[in-house]
Amino acid sequence: MEDCIFCKIINKEIPAEFVYEDDQVVAFNDANPYSPVHILVVPREHISSMHDITPEKKSLMGHLNWVISEIAREKNLESYRVLVNCGADAGQVIFHLHFHLLGGRKFK
Ligand code: AMP
Ligand code: ZN
Repeated sequence: MEDCIFCKIINKEIPAEFVYEDDQVVAFNDANPYSPVHILVVPREHISSMHDITPEKKSLMGHLNWVISEIAREKNLESYRVLVNCGADAGQVIFHLHFHLLGGRKFK
């Protein structure tokens, strides 16, 4: 989608530090990390937010969650947090669905 920063990252029009890529999902380091490990796991398809998950997306969402768990295993994260902001009042700033994978420190 035009003017979507994550679509531009996915299309390699702007740089990011990729940690995982397949035909459905990409993952890259957050530019402003909240924890030592802060990775954004993002579907290639432009889906604006959790509000837009339809039944056809269920298998993509399952795959995406498996990717999160694979990255966490690869990074040897024993404890981690997975977070999604849905909607501006919840803190969503970028309206291309993404899952934050946070780890590498103790959270309160
Ligand atoms: P959210 O508030 O859930 O929409 O999260 C957006 C996240 O995207 C924030 O944690 C930002 O630090 C991150 N972010 C914004 N621009 C970039 C970028 N160009 N590369 C990597 N992460 C980004
Ligand atoms: Zn997008």
